[in-house]
Amino acid sequence: MEYIPTIGLEVHAELKTRTKMFCDSPNDADEKHPNTNVCPVCLGHPGTLPVINKSAVEHVIKVGLALGGKIADISKFDRKNYFYPDLPKAYQISQYDQPLVQGGELLGVRLIRVHLEEDTGTLVHETRDQEPETSLVDFNRAGVPLMELVTEPDIKSAGQAVAFGKELRLILRYLGVSDADMEKGHMRLEANVSLSDQRPETRDKLGTKVEVKNINSFKALGSAIEYEIKRQSELLEKGEKIKQETRGWDDIKQKTFSQRTKEEAHDYRYFPEPDLPPLEPTKVFDIEDMKRHLSELPAQKRERFQKEFALSEKQAAALIDEKNLVDFFEAAASELASEENKNAPEKSAEELLFNYLTSDLVGLMNETETDFTELKITPQQFASLINLISGAKIMSRQAKEILRKMFETGEHPEEILAKEGLETVSDEGAVRIMILEVIKENPQAVADFKKGKSASLQFLVGKSMAKLRGRGNPEMIRKILEEELSSP
Ligand code: ADP
Ligand code: MG
Repeated sequence: MEYIPTIGLEVHAELKTRTKMFCDSPNDADEKHPNTNVCPVCLGHPGTLPVINKSAVEHVIKVGLALGGKIADISKFDRKNYFYPDLPKAYQISQYDQPLVQGGELLGVRLIRVHLEEDTGTLVHETRDQEPETSLVDFNRAGVPLMELVTEPDIKSAGQAVAFGKELRLILRYLGVSDADMEKGHMRLEANVSLSDQRPETRDKLGTKVEVKNINSFKALGSAIEYEIKRQSELLEKGEKIKQETRGWDDIKQKTFSQRTKEEAHDYRYFPEPDLPPLEPTKVFDIEDMKRHLSELPAQKRERFQKEFALSEKQAAALIDEKNLVDFFEAAASELASEENKNAPEKSAEELLFNYLTSDLVGLMNETETDFTELKITPQQFASLINLISGAKIMSRQAKEILRKMFETGEHPEEILAKEGLETVSDEGAVRIMILEVIKENPQAVADFKKGKSASLQFLVGKSMAKLRGRGNPEMIRKILEEELSSP
């Protein structure tokens, strides 16, 4: 039988704030020394009191606004009680029945809620010789503000789940609320998967769901969902029932495995956090003003880019999928000279910028493992380089040479050009003299060309370019050669 998959996602994202959710310990995901960003509050010492981080609340409201959710007039925090060594208080401050945001939608998937909670510490497992495995606890992450977003079970396939996750990640980055790096655990996803069959009497009823955890890449998300769909179909096919449980994804075996039967909400003994006052977000924040000042979102940017720049849909998408890249492109594009591209008139300066940025510069960056924060080239300097190319002051070979120097030294392209003498020889008289020499030196090719062998012209262009040490304009060379060869 064919089964219909139903998927709902739960997404956690660590928020970018200066301090933690309820204390002033630094929130620094890059801290390498364990247990340094800690204080009595985030270590759960008795007698300490939490204070709400306003900036974290603001971040979640931004996400709510970006996704069209309803911002709560009254919201509160609740205690979620459970024991685990990475949870020093033996409860997590979370939100239960009055989350900051309810509703909203992304790529046709409705959202149930977005709420705010605190992250746990991390366990470090060590195996030393002779001894059994030891587990150490690092509380640097304990109390870091964590956003949780829960979707309705609206997703129908692994591909759709991945597309949703990627777009959400991009939105979090554009809003500047999270780095949302899955590999580093800034963003964590859980997939709830169930199957229903197509018999009319059960079609509208959802099947028993399985929650899959430990997913740490989008690839793993897709594979885990595919695997669950297959596993559950096979069980149903055999007439067996699906057990409601939490399963883990094993990325090496490419399988899910049973972790525990699912706990119910009442197992956590949720109750209102007595140490924190309820929040009135719509009173504390000017929601309309926040809406007006919200960063441009990827979907809006995709639309604007196609109107504003001479880029294809695919080119625009490639830029927009990478926030750093699109920021660099925009800053450079605003500095492009308006004159037409003399070097290749069929290409706009913007396309030239796109090509040099996404293939040459990104190529150099990948080669040397440099990221945008370490880059010595400014967008303004990069635009100057593009202006030199489109104004036919330099040819592509020189451009690549100059780009490499810019990349290494941070020098301005005009400076490098002046110093290295890489400028294209644009004096027609000078080029003509060189070409006449080439004609004299290559009588065979000249004769062949005159007999109608057109490939010989390309050979002579190459010879002329070599004589100009690559600094000639091929269009001009071709034109002069044709003139000289057609004259008797
Ligand atoms: P729980 O109380 O077990 O956490 P929730 O009702 O809060 O369950 O839902 C958690 C997630 O599971 C949500 O993303 C929701 O869309 C999804 N979900 C709920 N029921 C199903 C189902 N039958 N199949 C797939 N996903 C589901
Ligand atoms: Mg849940």
